[in-house]
Amino acid sequence: MTWLMHYAAEQRLACYVVGGCVRDWLLARPVGDIDLVVEGDAIALAEAWTTVWPDQLHTHPPFGTATVSWLDAGALVSLDLISARRESYPQPAALPIVQFARLADDLARRDFTINCLALQLANQPTNVIDPHNGLVDLQRGLIRVLHKRSFIDDPTRILRALRFAARLEFRLEPSTAELLQQGLPWLDQTTPARLWNELGLLLSEPSAFKALSLADEWGVLQQLCGCAWPQALNHQAQCLLPNLPNEQLAISWLLLMSQLSPNAAQAQTKRFGLPKPIRQAVGQWHALATTAAMLNTTLSAGKLDRLLSPFEPLVLQVWASTQTPLVQQQIAYYLQALRPIASQLSGRDLQAQGIKPGPEYKTLLAAARERQLDQFAAENPNLC
Ligand code: ATP
Ligand code: MG
Repeated sequence: MTWLMHYAAEQRLACYVVGGCVRDWLLARPVGDIDLVVEGDAIALAEAWTTVWPDQLHTHPPFGTATVSWLDAGALVSLDLISARRESYPQPAALPIVQFARLADDLARRDFTINCLALQLANQPTNVIDPHNGLVDLQRGLIRVLHKRSFIDDPTRILRALRFAARLEFRLEPSTAELLQQGLPWLDQTTPARLWNELGLLLSEPSAFKALSLADEWGVLQQLCGCAWPQALNHQAQCLLPNLPNEQLAISWLLLMSQLSPNAAQAQTKRFGLPKPIRQAVGQWHALATTAAMLNTTLSAGKLDRLLSPFEPLVLQVWASTQTPLVQQQIAYYLQALRPIASQLSGRDLQAQGIKPGPEYKTLLAAARERQLDQFAAENPNLC
């Protein structure tokens, strides 16, 4: 940063720290990635930097932006350098046309007043640059768009508003709330990839479940995927998280999709291009629903194993949270006690017994495993 300050002064380049890092610094929250706006050529600046410091450089010439990354105490830190730019939207929800411009133009293209604060990179302390009264909104805890067409120009800002409202516990300023409602139908015009960019971020934040409640309240979920997020799901999701700390995204998505019919859930999961394990999990979820009646009576260990072994543990755990205590208990018993048990009999054993390999192997092995697990249960009644 010191090098950057000297270099910028030498080259007479005005550089500003902008956006989320200024907001978070003012709120005394941990600062994530740093965004730097340059009134000039950000790529040339980043290239000059990496000739002095051997850091990783990625450039994006059409947008005049560059990312410099380096390792700091083992963690990858990155700095985005952005050539100050003006954007215009050829049509609603489309990607903008970009022209290089001054800081004021760059700030005017941003989403919310709290995200268009800037600090000049200079040797002496400077005041926060605040052309849209973001400081007052920051103090009052308000999310406010800069102009009336903001959500129509870029409907992904609706998802960003949710993310900041949930994370910072801020409210929508009343006229922004109205504009957001008017912007909802434009979500349909936005490409699923752009929507998922923001949705995926939202579902990965610690405040994801709160964001889903707000999304329900604001009508965003209904518009986006035709479903709801009832309050009860918040509680279920929170209870699941301690046992599945790395699965927040899958938990949120599965519980959300559980509100839809099987076909609609599959269609939404495919539309957003979710990873294969989540797509499979959504498919398994609805298959599991057909076993609910059986699981509501006490099953023998062998039968339980036979019924549940086709399903992934993650789906079983999340699905169980939506079921009766008896179903939950049986699934927990299966996952903890039965699933880890290796089958004693293998295909090789059957071959050794002179049985010709064929379709009946499956039946024989399944029956043997069922007997083995029933015996295990009889010998370990305390585990049931
Ligand atoms: P986070 O802490 O989640 O990274 P952030 O405010 O830094 O929040 P980013 O997605 O990293 O958000 O974007 C950096 C900045 O770029 C934002 O602060 C905002 O000023 C601007 N920005 C990002 N996306 C949009 C958008 N869709 N429309 C307008 N401005 C945007
Ligand atoms: Mg950021």
